Amino acid sequence: MNYINNAWVPSKTGRTFDNVNPADTSDIIGAFPLSSGDDVHEAVAAAAHAFSSWKLVPAPKRGDILRRAGDIFTRRKDELAEIMTREMGKTVTETKGDIQEAIDTAYYAATETRRLFGYTAPSEMSNKMNMSFRMPIGVCGIITAWNFPIAVPSWKILPALAAGNTVVFKPSDDSPHSANIFAEILEEAGLPAGVFNVIHGNAEAGSALVEHPQVRVVGFTGSTQTGKAIAARCGELNKKVSLEMGGKNAQIVMEDADLDLALDGVLWGAFGTTGQRCTATSRLILHESIHDEFVGRLVDAASKVVLGDGRKAGSQVGPVINQRQLDKILAYIEIGRSEGRCVAGGERDVEGDKANGYFVKPTIFVDIKPHHRMFQEEIFGPVLSIAKARTFDEAINMANDCQYGLSSSLYTRDVNRAFAAIRDIEAGITYINAPTIGAEAHMPFGGIKGTGNGHREGGWTVFDIFTEWKTVYVDYSGHLQRAQIDNY
Ligand code: NAD
Repeated sequence: MNYINNAWVPSKTGRTFDNVNPADTSDIIGAFPLSSGDDVHEAVAAAAHAFSSWKLVPAPKRGDILRRAGDIFTRRKDELAEIMTREMGKTVTETKGDIQEAIDTAYYAATETRRLFGYTAPSEMSNKMNMSFRMPIGVCGIITAWNFPIAVPSWKILPALAAGNTVVFKPSDDSPHSANIFAEILEEAGLPAGVFNVIHGNAEAGSALVEHPQVRVVGFTGSTQTGKAIAARCGELNKKVSLEMGGKNAQIVMEDADLDLALDGVLWGAFGTTGQRCTATSRLILHESIHDEFVGRLVDAASKVVLGDGRKAGSQVGPVINQRQLDKILAYIEIGRSEGRCVAGGERDVEGDKANGYFVKPTIFVDIKPHHRMFQEEIFGPVLSIAKARTFDEAINMANDCQYGLSSSLYTRDVNRAFAAIRDIEAGITYINAPTIGAEAHMPFGGIKGTGNGHREGGWTVFDIFTEWKTVYVDYSGHLQRAQIDNY
């Protein structure tokens, strides 16, 4: 069902799609609506109507509702983690982390409703005061990917609501169930009807949302290809759009690094969440003097990673999301064989009950050159490509020689190199002695180059997406006599 005006309604199309467990494709979780423009129109109309009263609710009162949402996410965390793992595969430990992001964001956004600061400035004139306010914009169209079914939507939706906007959310058709729980939680928290709506479906519903004239802002997370198409359309429609897109994140390990720490970082940065994080480590740049030893230890560690249904105790890495991604990953593995040498994995895992799911063994390629497709193109799976660098400068240049710019990481004990990397790596996020993955709710999150379009979610910066400035000049010279004014 779609969720419009706090009610669960079927799509006008009568069409549905199946939500399938990627760890066991015989497990059909449910049928969800394949919505069209008509459904989107109904949801946007509800959100536009609700905007006129929601924007008048004092911001701290809106914050009270978000705080309650944080409490309910906390209460339902274990249940929701199981649901999320069943529909998109990552382990329950990881889905709990996903939900924790929403909890942190709910409390953070709630607190910020008391600090939606504008600013004041002196006027050029006597008897005049200047000030500025952050104003809500209207209906926000939120379109997201499936890999963080609760965290990523929460980064957009909760601050958008905090700022006084209303929302129509089009989740990925690979994670619709989690989106419905999101709606249940906001309703229980006390969100008035129409303020938050969910429309299920694929590109058809997504593009109808982008097109809708009453949608004033589009917040998108997904592939660079889709994001660029949406941005082009938003340009034509003169619509504000924030884009969080693909990544090809590099981790550099220098010869002076703590190699145990770096090994752990790359193992979970590359293969955690089955490599399906926008911040996943997919390029490893090793100083040549430690290359062979490090690769040997990494291959050993990767071969011990336990693949399995994310709901089973002991599983460390779940399946990839769907047949399309499985085919794409296996095709890239073939490309990798032609460009370099496969030293771990390199195939699907069909052992035992994994035969029913989309499991791919953690895969490592060496002898990859910076210009190779394996080093340039986003694969979005458990595949790591390794290149050798002779110097620190060469390593930084390799990291930057890529169309994407989301996350990056350097392992070194040299503080000078650390600060040089912070300055020189072209990415929205740089980690020092930590893997490329992870985010904290109160810090800006996003990328440069092919990953973003200049906006940042997280932290204060998210309110730049979901508010517009209103500048106010108050002239209070009316109480003065004309002669007095002329004297100024
Ligand atoms: P995708 O681009 O195929 O789909 C993303 C969303 O856009 C889905 O909801 C989809 O239905 C919708 N969509 C597709 N075509 C559309 C269109 N023409 N108009 C409007 N909406 C449309 O991406 P995906 O495969 O679901 O997700 C994987 C991608 O997401 C990867 O590239 C990954 O790096 C990226 N991602 C980025 C971040 C980030 O913060 N930078 C976070 C998570 C995922």
